[in-house]
Amino acid sequence: MTVPLLATASILLLFEIPNEPAGQDTGLVVAYNSTNEAELAMATWKNWAGNQIAHPLSIEKPRDERAVAQIVRTASDQGEKVKVVGSGHSFTSIALTNGRLISIDALSGIASVDSATKRVTVHAGTTLADLNVLLDGLGLALPNLGDITYQTVAGAISTGTHGTGQHLTGLAGQVVGMRFINAMGEVVEANESTNPEILRLGRVGLGALGVLTQLTLQAVLAFHLRAVETPMRVDKLLEEIEMHVNTNDHFEFFWVPHTGWALTKRNNRTDDAVSPQPAARRWIDKVLIENYGFGAVCAVGRMRPQWIPRLAKALPSSGGREYVDTSYKVFASTRLVKFYEMEYSIPRAHIVDALNEVRTMVDRRGHLLNFPVEVRFTKADDMALSTSYGRDSAYIAVHIYKGMDYVPYFKDVEAIMKTHQGRPHWGKLHFRTAQDLAPAYPLFDQFVKLRNQMDPTRTFANEYTDRVLDGSHV
Ligand SMILES: Cc1cc2nc3c(=O)[nH]c(=O)nc-3n(C[C@H](O)[C@H](O)[C@H](O)COP(=O)(O)OP(=O)(O)OC[C@H]3O[C@@H](n4cnc5c(N)ncnc54)[C@H](O)[C@@H]3O)c2cc1C
Repeated sequence: MTVPLLATASILLLFEIPNEPAGQDTGLVVAYNSTNEAELAMATWKNWAGNQIAHPLSIEKPRDERAVAQIVRTASDQGEKVKVVGSGHSFTSIALTNGRLISIDALSGIASVDSATKRVTVHAGTTLADLNVLLDGLGLALPNLGDITYQTVAGAISTGTHGTGQHLTGLAGQVVGMRFINAMGEVVEANESTNPEILRLGRVGLGALGVLTQLTLQAVLAFHLRAVETPMRVDKLLEEIEMHVNTNDHFEFFWVPHTGWALTKRNNRTDDAVSPQPAARRWIDKVLIENYGFGAVCAVGRMRPQWIPRLAKALPSSGGREYVDTSYKVFASTRLVKFYEMEYSIPRAHIVDALNEVRTMVDRRGHLLNFPVEVRFTKADDMALSTSYGRDSAYIAVHIYKGMDYVPYFKDVEAIMKTHQGRPHWGKLHFRTAQDLAPAYPLFDQFVKLRNQMDPTRTFANEYTDRVLDGSHV
């Protein structure tokens, strides 16, 4: 294996690791619901990446929907703000509030199942990790997932979280019903027969319409995936990109900056029995090398950025892989190495030009990057604020190791994405405002109208929604 090949494979393999407990290193830092003024003043919440910190008025943990409605009504009456947090896995300030912060961990699990239609109603605070296991027990699964499963169902849907697959939408596209508490404290139901317009407009809702309490998801029969991971020269890969996307159920790749290599991942449905990697080999590959090794290399790169291009070429590798496993075990990985991320959706047909422009820009601007660039694909959908609204999409995700300055690189990438009709992931860092986002979403105004009905008092607003929905910070 050549040195660049080692780098390609290793950085990418290092990038995905077995599951860790949900919400690790995220959430309540000091006190919540305290009556002690001093403790309350110190109540703190932070996100997974540690780049967003909130000092809310209170942190509340309602045990049921009625308690949620009561908190919302009281807050609205008193002119206070309310924000629900999921698992804190957004990189943006989307979940921050200086008002009442609600954690709905208690609203977890499956409420009901319709086995004939394979529709499952889940409590909104259920994590995807828990849901996967519960569904598996019923012989069901979600048709697609992103890279991790620590997120809550509500949080993932609210920001337009997605995986990869040319015939599949993001997770919100699997929602066929939702139930939430609006700013007046009323229960709102939306499904194909009741309030279908709210369903269409509000699934990717940025937490701006109300507090989701239940979601009904269209599941599928449980299935196995064959995962094949191989390095390729990135130029060759881009020449053949249509073929790769078209001939695989779930295709993605990671380009390793400072090298001409990419690691490809092909996940395809199979009737074959599971044949996961042997446990010891998996631990060495995915925990020892991919986690601690990658973390160490990133830490060295942060101290000595000028070494990054050489480090990228000198990492150890466990080579390519092929295995068969239950779908959610293939989709989901662990992220022990902390980073900051920005991700842009562009029309699928733009992927080759856009990625090549990023590659050229990285060389020209001299960015030193120790994280790969991830590329994925999804099908068009009809959800108002979905980044895939109305177009088959490609996604370009860029990362910077925690503690390093992401602004210059992300701004340079964003400038390129804007020339390709780019739409930023709502949960990942970006610098856009309502003024320039609105033209990118044909149903933007309709979403704002719905928001005016559901939250006329802007009880669910925060600085992020002000910036991306109101334009008041433009
Ligand atoms: C390591 C890592 C990997 C990731 N991988 C992917 C990926 O593969 N694909 C992808 O698309 N994204 C990915 N993301 C982004 C992530 O999926 C989203 O940011 C997602 O929103 C996080 O869900 P959460 O439960 O942590 O929600 P939070 O970040 O806590 O909240 C997100 C938003 O949802 C709102 N919200 C939460 N619960 C409710 C509720 N009950 N009612 C109303 N609003 C609510 C919050 O108010 C907030 O506005 C990744 C993030 C990380 C850190």
